Formats: sequence, structure tokens, C-alpha cells
Amino acid sequence: MAYTKEDIIRIVKEEDIEFIRMQFTDIFGQLKNVAITASQIEKAVNNQIMLDGSSIEGFVRINESDQYLYPDLDSFVVFPWRPQHGKVARLICDIYNPDGTPFVGDPRGVLKRVLKKAADMGYDTFNVGPEAEFFLFQTDEEGKPTTKTNDEAGYFDLGPLDHGEGTRREICIALEQMGFEIEASHHEVAQGQHEIDFKYAEALKTADNIMTFKLAVKTLAQKNGLHATFMPKPIYGINGSGMHTNMSLFKNGKNVFYDPDGEKGLSKEAYSFIAGLLAHVKGMCAVTNPLVNSYKRLVPGYEAPCYLAWSASNRSALIRIPAARGQSTRVELRSPDPACNPYLELAVLLAAGLDGIEKGMVPPAEITENIFKMDDDARAAAGIDSLPGSLEEAIKAMQADPMVLETLGGHVSENYIEGKAKEWDEYRTRVSSWEREKYIINY
Ligand code: ADP
Ligand code: MG
Ligand code: MG
Ligand code: MG
Ligand code: MG
Repeated sequence: MAYTKEDIIRIVKEEDIEFIRMQFTDIFGQLKNVAITASQIEKAVNNQIMLDGSSIEGFVRINESDQYLYPDLDSFVVFPWRPQHGKVARLICDIYNPDGTPFVGDPRGVLKRVLKKAADMGYDTFNVGPEAEFFLFQTDEEGKPTTKTNDEAGYFDLGPLDHGEGTRREICIALEQMGFEIEASHHEVAQGQHEIDFKYAEALKTADNIMTFKLAVKTLAQKNGLHATFMPKPIYGINGSGMHTNMSLFKNGKNVFYDPDGEKGLSKEAYSFIAGLLAHVKGMCAVTNPLVNSYKRLVPGYEAPCYLAWSASNRSALIRIPAARGQSTRVELRSPDPACNPYLELAVLLAAGLDGIEKGMVPPAEITENIFKMDDDARAAAGIDSLPGSLEEAIKAMQADPMVLETLGGHVSENYIEGKAKEWDEYRTRVSSWEREKYIINY
């Protein structure tokens, strides 16, 4: 849909829209918004709504705090879960400085910069399809989340075992009303775990969609008395939640990853893109897997990847190439989790792939064995490296990867690393219940 300013002003009037949420995302992936009333819509579409950037984590200092919200008019949508008279709509915004230049600390702007670079290289479209998993937990009498799942179902099970089914159904309907094309919705492997897949789109749209998706899931779960979480590993001993990221690159309407004459039907560019991802995956990990808790998912035995390898079929590999060819040829990176900032995630993934293409990188041989069944010696012999084991290691790997730092830009990378180092330090110095149980009697 392509809206003009006039369209939006008219729709707000005709459809009895009372509030418009002006949304953006901070560098740590939190959705932020300021609500304006319908009377302000003309100001809003003319980029005149201000925000105080000093109150947003990782944005700006107090002495340079005035910033402006430039709404992306095509993101205009009415929230289907709000009252249908006196409706609430939203606009996703870019952040600009008072002098009319884009703010370097805006994650959406970071992704736009990399997309521009891709376009300059002739790649006009970067298509991305995410598979975001989440848990639905029961809430207690005060409405606070518990870690009790509300079913005992497993992969692809259906009701009555799957009590989340009704909630998932409502989520899908709401998303469709907001223009999503839902491809699949199913119960995941763990109790209380779900996945809803929506159709891939161009990267900026997909990053916006991921933010909207998370908001819709959380809102509708709450309406059903449940708590939805995208926390990567909420419960020890069962699968965590990932966000497999499927990617393809297009030039003049053609998928450049496909080559009918190439090995396995893949082009030289596809192999270089894979090699670029592998070369930078450790440096990108603090972005793709941003929490202390993310690294409790990336352990052997739960379908999540831990080792640096690619495969055309093997689901134990970090990178999988699904069987589809032709226009559907794609690369699936299986490490990211849904706690990541999707704008920064897609920015670094694309930049890594492009770096592989620019430098003509060649990936190591495909691994067809189950990597989890190989012991340390076998992996070492095959030259298979591991992902960072903790947020601390991931921060160090990021600091050691100039491509990642440059892609994020000085402002974002410095604030991001500072925030993540603080998070790690907070965790590192806390005494956990595991430690007390383990040590308090024996020592
Ligand atoms: P899996 O087999 O890994 O569970 P799913 O079917 O759950 O895969 O999800 C596949 C995702 O890949 C969907 O979001 C889909 O839209 C997306 N996808 C399909 N074709 C492409 C493509 N050419 N480029 C990017 N993503 C794609
Ligand atoms: Mg899936
Ligand atoms: Mg599937
Ligand atoms: Mg899944
Ligand atoms: Mg997948």
C-alpha cells in the first residue's frame, strides 16, 4: 500500500480514529511510542512531532535531546484489538535531527544504510522471512507471569491438548487484519511453545513486521489471561525460542542465490554470502543473541545451533539451505533469537553476506553429519568452530569485528556495547539460587 499524507489525514477523519501511536525502536529492541490525538495528525505526517531523545536508552545526551519523528506513511495501520469506535492507529517512524539529517543512532536508519549499500551493488531487494518462537505462560492472581505453561502438548499437536490454540488463532486473525500473510501456525516442541510464520518481505518491512508481531502476540495473550514471552530460554531443560532467519537476495526481480548449473543449484554469490555469514557470525552474536539468557539456548541437545557449519539439509547446522530452489532459494540462519533488535539484526546479516560477496569468500565444506554427535576431537579435525558461549564472549567478538562495528556505526556500537557490558556485569555479580543450592551446605 502506498499512502499519501492526504490519504492518512482523510482516513483518520473518516474512520473515527482517535489516537495515533507514533512508534520507533530503541537500540536494545524495545518498542517505544508517543500517542497523539487525531487533531495532531497534520503535524504528524509533516514530521513535526518531537521526542526527547535523552529519555531513550542509548539515544542522545541531554544537551542535544530534541529529535523529530518522520513517519513511514506506508506503515499506517489500525490496531484491530482496540475499540472499533475511537480507533487507535499506528505509524512507524524514523528519527531525525533538528537540522533534517537522519539520526545515526536510529536502528531503522542503520538497516536503511546497509540496504542502500546493497542497492549500490545492484541488489535491489533483500527478502527475509523470520520464524519467531514464543512461550505462553499462565499468569497468577495479580496478573504477573508465572513459568507454568498452560498445556502439555508438543510439536504440531492440536487441541484439546493445545490450550494455546485459541490464543494463537486470535493472533493470526489480528495479524491478517493488519496485512500479514500467515503461512503457518503451530505448536512447537516444548510445552507452551508456539510458532507463527508470516510470509517473507523486503528486509525493512520484515523488521517492522517483527516488531508488530511481538506487540500483537503479547497484547492478545494478555487479553486471554496469558503472558507471551520471547525470552530465549525461559525454562531449563526444554527447548528455547529461536528466530530462524530466512534470507534471499534479488537483482532485477531474480533470486541471485539460484543457479541451475551451480553445485546443489546454488550460485557463487550464494556460497560467498554463506561464507560471509560464517566469517562474521561470532562478531554479530551480541546483536543476534543479545541477552545473558540467549546463551542458555545456544547449548547442545535442544535443536539450537552452537557450532559454525552449514549444510543443505542438516538441521543441526548453524546455516541450512532449505530444499526449495528457483525464486525460493534461500539461506536459513538458525542462531538468532527473538529478543534481538530486528533492524540491527538484519543490518549486520546483510552486511556480512555482502562482505562475503565483495571479497569473493568461499565457505568451508558442507557438514552432513550430526554435529551434536561429533566429539570435540572430531569437530576440531573438521575445523568446526563454536559460537560465543556467553554474552561476555559475544561482546568481545563484536569488539574484534570491525565490519560489525562499522555497520552499526560509532554511535550505536558504543552505546550498545556499553549497555550490554553493564548487563553482563549485573548478572556476573549476582548470587543465583543455583549457586546457593549447590554450595551452601557443602562449603
Ligand atoms: P522451517 O522449515 O525452517 O520450519 P518455515 O516454513 O517455518 O521453515 O518458515 C520459512 C520462512 O521462510 C517463512 O517465513 C517464509 O516466508 C520464508 N521464505 C520463503 N521463501 C523465502 C525467500 N525466497 N526469501 C526469504 N524468505 C523466504
Ligand atoms: Mg519453522
Ligand atoms: Mg515450518
Ligand atoms: Mg520452529
Ligand atoms: Mg526454520
